[in-house]
Amino acid sequence: GWRADEGRPGVVVPQERSVTYRLSDLAYSLRSAGRSEQARVYSRESSPTLEAVEEKLANLDGAESACLYASGMAALHAALLATVEPGGRVLVSERLYGGSDGLLDAWLPRQGTRVVRFSGEPFDLTAKLTADTRLVLVESLANPTLDVADVRGLAAALAEHSAKLLVDATFATPMAQRPLALGADLVWHSATKYLGGHSDVLAGALCGDRMTLDAARHWRTLVGATPDPEAAWLLDRGMKTLGLRFERASSNASELAAWLSAHPEVEVVHHPSLLTGAAAQRAKAQLDLPGGVLSFAVRGGDARADRLVRALQVFTEAASLGGVESLASQPVRMSHVGLSAEQLSERGIVPGFIRLAVGVEDAADLRADLERALAASAD
Ligand code: PLP
Repeated sequence: GWRADEGRPGVVVPQERSVTYRLSDLAYSLRSAGRSEQARVYSRESSPTLEAVEEKLANLDGAESACLYASGMAALHAALLATVEPGGRVLVSERLYGGSDGLLDAWLPRQGTRVVRFSGEPFDLTAKLTADTRLVLVESLANPTLDVADVRGLAAALAEHSAKLLVDATFATPMAQRPLALGADLVWHSATKYLGGHSDVLAGALCGDRMTLDAARHWRTLVGATPDPEAAWLLDRGMKTLGLRFERASSNASELAAWLSAHPEVEVVHHPSLLTGAAAQRAKAQLDLPGGVLSFAVRGGDARADRLVRALQVFTEAASLGGVESLASQPVRMSHVGLSAEQLSERGIVPGFIRLAVGVEDAADLRADLERALAASAD
């Protein structure tokens, strides 16, 4: 990333706002060679603040190249544009963020590409893999039941195949998992979450090999999905504390998950810290920290869950995750609204289900808040 030097001694990366640049012979020759993104011409192509953050992100994810986008969804769109030719199929996990499902289902069939669901497990990938499969998409920690992806197993299942493995690492961040080191081809992030870290910037990122990223960057210029330099600057500021925040959110969430598991009014709790046996072994080999998101079901069903989230005072009832503040939401009302009872139960969303995106507050305050809300919501 950015390093201060004698010419530009500021320790903080500057927010370079210029949209257009004074032209030079070099810019003209790069442009005539079709390499306009490498020249300084116009900021929809690239700009210095973005490039400083992209270099940092590529380093964090162990990637040859990284590209920033105006949102996580724009990063997924770019990944699809860069990897999926019309026709063929993509295999996607049954447990994806609803927005990802929405984009895949709305757009891929229009270009003649079939979207086929699989369980997210390597054996099912092998069963459903076809010669015309172009891309496989999973989440490192699936929403909202926090299933840990077996990235190594999925990569092994694709070893003899040209399909690329794309991992949504939004919930894990490079602090918990670097999917490229485990065999994935591409990683994307909603940088709006942990990377930004303060619920005040919308951004996305795609990381991977240079050839794919060059194509994805070119598509970014064509569709205009480039973030504003201020968004990139805020992201840079947030990323400086990513390690501190993610460790704290992980330990807070682990403490709450253990406490909720022992609570008589709580039926089920999902968090990677609670895994046991073979599942724990597998998770440990591919996940360094359990992350700040956990989910649980309260006795008394959705009516009780409604009362519980309303009674919280430290947690805010809100969608999203990855900020310093703790949030609570009900998947049945937000990310999974409109699904049938059967579809909900297939995804592990039982009555009374609540998702907590745990922040960096004092763990005792968060526990006291939950304890108070559990008591206040009882019949
Ligand atoms: N992936 C996951 C796992 C998410 O939770 C979200 C947003 O909630 C996204 C992707 C989409 O990112 P954005 O909202 O930055 O477009």
